[in-house]
Amino acid sequence: MGFDTLLGNQQLKENLTRSLERGHISHFYLISGPEGSGKRTLARLLGAAILCREKNPPCLKCHVCRKVMEGSHPDFITVDDPEKKTVTVDLIRQARADMYIQPNESDHKLYLFPRAQDMGIPGQNALLKVLEEPPAYGVFLLLTDNPDKLLPTVRSRCTELKLQALPRDLLLGQLERDFPQAQPEDREAAALRSGGFLGQARTLLAEGTAQDPGAEAFCRAFAGGDPLLLLQLLVPLEKSKRETLSLLLDQWLTLVESALACRSGVPALSPQARALAQSCTAQRLYHGAACLKQAQLYVDSNVSPGAVCGYLEWALR
Ligand SMILES: [Zn+2]
Repeated sequence: MGFDTLLGNQQLKENLTRSLERGHISHFYLISGPEGSGKRTLARLLGAAILCREKNPPCLKCHVCRKVMEGSHPDFITVDDPEKKTVTVDLIRQARADMYIQPNESDHKLYLFPRAQDMGIPGQNALLKVLEEPPAYGVFLLLTDNPDKLLPTVRSRCTELKLQALPRDLLLGQLERDFPQAQPEDREAAALRSGGFLGQARTLLAEGTAQDPGAEAFCRAFAGGDPLLLLQLLVPLEKSKRETLSLLLDQWLTLVESALACRSGVPALSPQARALAQSCTAQRLYHGAACLKQAQLYVDSNVSPGAVCGYLEWALR
């Protein structure tokens, strides 16, 4: 069974399995990745792998594995108070004191910090004391979507496990199993907007917000080549992050390419693509696709989002 329930991330799963087989258990793991990338799933699987006593752990069948996966194992402790904005120093001190009490029913005692980035500097300093001299049975699992917020002294003591985006086909396959009733175009849109992270794609589909309302605004501005609409669309994006802009450019390019394909008889991926195919000439669509690819190249070569938007305001007219 092993780590198979975590989708994708093959290399990471193989490395982890191999090091656990050799009996290498780190005292500190830093599991990093964006929202919805599977950090909690991996933490639970890793916890089960460390505590399970069956062959090829985690077997996910024994009572130890089951308790870890349900969150009821007494030696797998979550350190967080979701009511509070930060993970308080008090909470970390409590965990630190608790760690010196022997495990209840296993050879190890694990502490899960679901949002390590919210520990703040005092909290991290409190944690550092355990990081320097952990008891032999102690294992810390720090989860974060922003490893840069951790002190270098904390980060350097951790074995970092970095979760990656899923390949499109793998993600779409899972979404098809999870949301068989959803429209294929919604699943496509959710996969695209999630940036390859299953948790985010599931949320978009569950909330019915897979289709990007911004796509509508792009279509209106692009179809008419209206300078004012283009400004309204692009000026607010001038200050956006590079990754956000890159994701939007990808979505717009998919739209324009789907509209082009639609003009040659392929079914459109979304209602917006269909509308675009009807309102634009093939020449206009080719031009749009070329501009968006050029803009994506600019983003990739570190041109500022402001300058890239400025280019598009002019080029898409
Ligand atoms: Zn087991």
